[in-house]
Amino acid sequence: MVLENRTREYVEKRVRAGVLEQGTVDVLKASGVGERLAREGLVHHGIELRFGGESHRIGFEQLVPGRAITVYGQQEVVKDLIAARIAAGGTIVFEAADVALHAIDSAHPYLTFTHAGEAQRLDCDFIAGCDGYHGVSRAAIPSGVLATFERDYPFAWLGILAAVAPSAHELIYAQTERGFALHSMRSPEVSRFYLQVEADDDIGNWSDARIWEELRLRLETLPGWKLATGPIIEKNITPMRSFVVEPMQFERLFLAGDAAHIVPPTGAKGLNLAVADVCVLSEALAVHYREQRQDLLQSYSQRCLRRVWRAQHFSYWMTSLLHTFDRSDAYAQKLQRSYLEYVTSSRAAATTLAENYVGLPLSREGESNATNRGHE
Ligand SMILES: Cc1cc2nc3c(=O)[nH]c(=O)nc-3n(C[C@H](O)[C@H](O)[C@H](O)COP(=O)(O)OP(=O)(O)OC[C@H]3O[C@@H](n4cnc5c(N)ncnc54)[C@H](O)[C@@H]3O)c2cc1C
Repeated sequence: MVLENRTREYVEKRVRAGVLEQGTVDVLKASGVGERLAREGLVHHGIELRFGGESHRIGFEQLVPGRAITVYGQQEVVKDLIAARIAAGGTIVFEAADVALHAIDSAHPYLTFTHAGEAQRLDCDFIAGCDGYHGVSRAAIPSGVLATFERDYPFAWLGILAAVAPSAHELIYAQTERGFALHSMRSPEVSRFYLQVEADDDIGNWSDARIWEELRLRLETLPGWKLATGPIIEKNITPMRSFVVEPMQFERLFLAGDAAHIVPPTGAKGLNLAVADVCVLSEALAVHYREQRQDLLQSYSQRCLRRVWRAQHFSYWMTSLLHTFDRSDAYAQKLQRSYLEYVTSSRAAATTLAENYVGLPLSREGESNATNRGHE
């Protein structure tokens, strides 16, 4: 049973991530929610790094054969999952208010919530805390149980969605003296862009004209390359943060996704990590009910955290490679340029970027075999 405090319409329209790793795509397809994804998702076999007035392609075909990323909005994934859950007879309670966790250190945990003005109680075998960074699950764990690891960054991302065809077929990660910019897309008609801005910047400071001008300055750095512009549908500023709690489990409560960890979006890992956690958890729960085995539930946190820390490092590394941290630190800028040149000239370094970007296979870490999960 899923308790969601927003309306169905709200969560189906909430624009966030959009780059799906190969493993995420495989899991969604194996779980029976891959039909529209296969039809509408944009499969990309490379990304572009743009710096120093030059363009460098990191081609996945050569570096990680058979693996790619798929551009498909998170809100579309959410729509597909909701439709599948309802079609399978599952219950999703939208607008569940005042959700609270109780007796989570016992064998009989339960939730209370309010729906349509009525107070409700839900007795549970297990609780999956998939309620994001600001949710109530993590906060319900007694103090002293969790260790927290975190890092803040001295900048934020201004993101826009624009009704204009993408200016390139693949994502462009641009490093410039003015800061980082990302050219991305959601469909053949809708583009997504990000700009590195000050950590305390306000979206009110950014008129549409100023956003397009700054994007031009950071992206039009190749002779003859032009940025197509159009109406901005949505714009906001997102803080950049790295955050992990360990362990990701307390008794019968299992944290998954942003409830347990946050990454800066540069590596496009947030949504993919949430899917990977849920794969590990669903397999552990299935084995518990089918075979009365507890070992996978007991090792949930350990198995997830291996992947979480790989993604933490990759997201931190990509962020460091592409953003301006301190304009007065000329030494750091020289190191950054040296690493960018290395990544774009060494096959070994480019392969490191590519294999992390497309995502390590779920099965390599023993995190379950996606092809066996279709019937669950
Ligand atoms: C503005 C924004 C932009 C982002 N852009 C990117 C990006 O470009 N690339 C990228 O990789 N990642 C991005 N992310 C991160 C990515 O979206 C998250 O990592 C991903 O959504 C994590 O999924 P989740 O299911 O763990 O959490 P969420 O998607 O946050 O889902 C949690 C759900 O729980 C619900 N909920 C919260 N509290 C309660 C409660 N008390 N009771 C009941 N329900 C509750 C919420 O309404 C929500 O539907 C972005 C995040 C944000 C906020």
